[in-house]
Amino acid sequence: MSRDAVRIFTGGCLCGGVRYRIEGVCRDIINCHCENCRRTHGHIAAYTSVDRAALELLEAQTLRWYHDHSPDTYRGFCSRCGASLFWDARDGRGKMAVAAGSLDDSGDLKTIGHVFVGEAAKYYAIDDGLPCFEQGNAGALETDDSG
Ligand SMILES: [Zn+2]
Ligand SMILES: [Zn+2]
Repeated sequence: MSRDAVRIFTGGCLCGGVRYRIEGVCRDIINCHCENCRRTHGHIAAYTSVDRAALELLEAQTLRWYHDHSPDTYRGFCSRCGASLFWDARDGRGKMAVAAGSLDDSGDLKTIGHVFVGEAAKYYAIDDGLPCFEQGNAGALETDDSG
């Protein structure tokens, strides 16, 4: 099966208050080392990215959105268990970043690179040999220019 084939993924938060279904193409995983991701995830953020239209919320009772002013984005989290789930730029590109760790089964998705390594904390090494970008990847790691 092609890596770009439409597939179905499901996922959710720790307590089950937020559950989602993706029927579409999930981008491979990019690790974001920016300070904001670090503070909300407790460590780096590993995100896939999907078309917003491909993401269906099955349960969202406890889903809340935090307006992250730097950059101007929204972070979706569970108000009950605290899980960080979504990063939504609302920039008109129609993409939503989904925390890879919240997928029930990540299938054959693989990590393809690191962004905002200029903001990485000093307590860990980035030594997997994957491409690193000081800031955003500007589409270099993918073809759809998201993330
Ligand atoms: Zn939860
Ligand atoms: Zn980040």
